[in-house]
Amino acid sequence: MTVPRTFLSTLTGLFASPAAENPTVAMMEAAYHHHGIDARYLTCDVSPAGLADAVNGARAMGWAGFNCSLPHKVAVVALLDGLAESVRIIGAVNCAVRRGEQFIGENTDGRGFLTSLRTVIDPAGQAIVILGAGGAARAIAVESALAGAATITVVNRTPERGRELVRLLGEHTPTSAIFAPWDGAYSVPTGTTIVVNATSVGLFPDVDSQIALNLESLDSSMVVCDVIPNPPRTRFLRDAQRRGCRTIDGLGMLVNQGAVAIEHWTGVSPDVDVMRAALNDVFDLPSPDHT
Ligand code: NDP
Repeated sequence: MTVPRTFLSTLTGLFASPAAENPTVAMMEAAYHHHGIDARYLTCDVSPAGLADAVNGARAMGWAGFNCSLPHKVAVVALLDGLAESVRIIGAVNCAVRRGEQFIGENTDGRGFLTSLRTVIDPAGQAIVILGAGGAARAIAVESALAGAATITVVNRTPERGRELVRLLGEHTPTSAIFAPWDGAYSVPTGTTIVVNATSVGLFPDVDSQIALNLESLDSSMVVCDVIPNPPRTRFLRDAQRRGCRTIDGLGMLVNQGAVAIEHWTGVSPDVDVMRAALNDVFDLPSPDHT
């Protein structure tokens, strides 16, 4: 019998609530297995009241790092030992990375989104409409602006949150950003090239929820993206496809932000096709992430 050099696996995982329907573990462990990395990814349902204990537990157990999803991305900032530069602008962490004895907050959502977007269109010079101003929207807006987007229109139900994101973009990036109030069905302005749903509308189990948007304003020249990973073919994307738009689903973003996390935790750049295939198995999807 071959005796392994260590029985101490690298520990990583996810803190979220609810967490049960989050499919991240499937793609992360597929990557670990594919690359022969002795690591685990544990999905943990952590309540807001338990977040500090969970972070301290991960610290005590020597975890290499962890992802944070709803509702912890902002609250976790105060529990970490330092923040990456983009997090200082975005204000939300989706990935903590152990460096020495410290947990440093990173945000891989925006980078994951851009990698997925670039399979279809370069964000530089584009006129982008972002629906939402929460954690995902902030990450996408900041990274798109830093990648050279010409204009970003932030559309959000709660005006204060939308205006705050626009202020942030104006302060930290060269992109021209404006806020558009979301009263009734929003009409996407002519000349828009990329539309992103960065709200939580359409997320399982509310799969039939409809985004308040005038579908007639979607033009076939537009690239339409959704951040919702579950289900991947959201009602919004199906509607956009019927309008002739090219679409990008939330699984592409999920895979690519996960790949960046694995790089942070293990130093290995994982094969994203392996990760996507694992998610396609979960969702019984043979198709690629854009059409
Ligand atoms: P937040 O709670 O921070 O933000 C939610 C956003 O959705 C807010 O802008 C909120 O508006 C808006 N919203 C919620 N309900 C409605 C509604 N009925 N009508 C209009 N707007 C609404 O969440 P996150 O930004 O962290 O996450 C948003 C989504 O992104 C989630 O579904 C998550 O699963 C997904 N996501 C996907 C990732 C991926 O890799 N694919 C990565 C990260 C997130 P308001 O400010 O008015 O409340």
